[in-house]
Amino acid sequence: MRLREKVCLITGAGSGIGQSTALLFAAEGAEIVVNDLDADKGAETVRRIGEAGGTAVFLQADVTNPEEVRLMAERALERFGRIDVLFNNAGISGVGRLHEIEPDVWDRIMSINIKGVYLPSKYIVPHMMERKRGAIINMSSCVAEIGLARRASYAATKGAVLALTKSMQVDYAPFGIRVNALLPGTIFTPFVEQYLHRSYDDPEEAIASIKKRQLSEELGLPEDVAKAALFLASDESSFVMGAPLYVDGGVVFG
Ligand code: NAD
Repeated sequence: MRLREKVCLITGAGSGIGQSTALLFAAEGAEIVVNDLDADKGAETVRRIGEAGGTAVFLQADVTNPEEVRLMAERALERFGRIDVLFNNAGISGVGRLHEIEPDVWDRIMSINIKGVYLPSKYIVPHMMERKRGAIINMSSCVAEIGLARRASYAATKGAVLALTKSMQVDYAPFGIRVNALLPGTIFTPFVEQYLHRSYDDPEEAIASIKKRQLSEELGLPEDVAKAALFLASDESSFVMGAPLYVDGGVVFG
């Protein structure tokens, strides 16, 4: 059990990578605070953790809403007395070249993908500073470091998250807090499946184009990212600070 007696709050844990991570962390002994905007999805994650014998509560909050996020942090601390791990995972996709993106769509992705990392951190870091311990995992993407067609707004948010991670690490290292980033490649989640259905007539063509960008022959799965998150959340990564951890089958170097 690599997360025994740890309390982990995961944003966007009702689906995809967040859900997979919540299930894995619970199986490794953690108590989980499942956050999502969508109550049905969040409840489903809690149900699955409960069925497997784990402990989880659902706290609904929009990660872009300061008051909702403040209340979520307060309720999580009331319920469990501490938060050891914060996984800022919630995010949305954005497609299009810069001149094709409407200003309101630009603002929305900036808000969810960047403010959605800032706000949970803002309300949970002071608690971690007091305890002089904590691990924060921020969800970036390999597009923070490589140019990928028609991802302007999305890449901008994930680059910002990577820069924010490094800055946070420097500020909070004196308080025993580690802050690292995950940089997944294409991972088969509802988020990606919807995009592929919209963008390609032939699913085989979509899969072939993804594999062409990777060194690996395999397709990335939510469990692959969950295992990397587990490493960053556990004490096994105690000397890993401000790091970008690629989980992309070699996309960056392919
Ligand atoms: P997903 O759509 O399957 O899950 C995202 C979850 O976040 C959903 O349950 C959604 O309801 C929730 N959410 C959205 N807006 C929210 C908000 N304002 N407040 C709270 N919850 C909100 O997506 P996923 O593929 O699992 O992606 C998770 C994260 O991983 C995202 O940050 C995404 O950018 C990142 N990522 C995904 C991939 C990929 O290929 N799937 C690759 C790199 C990075």
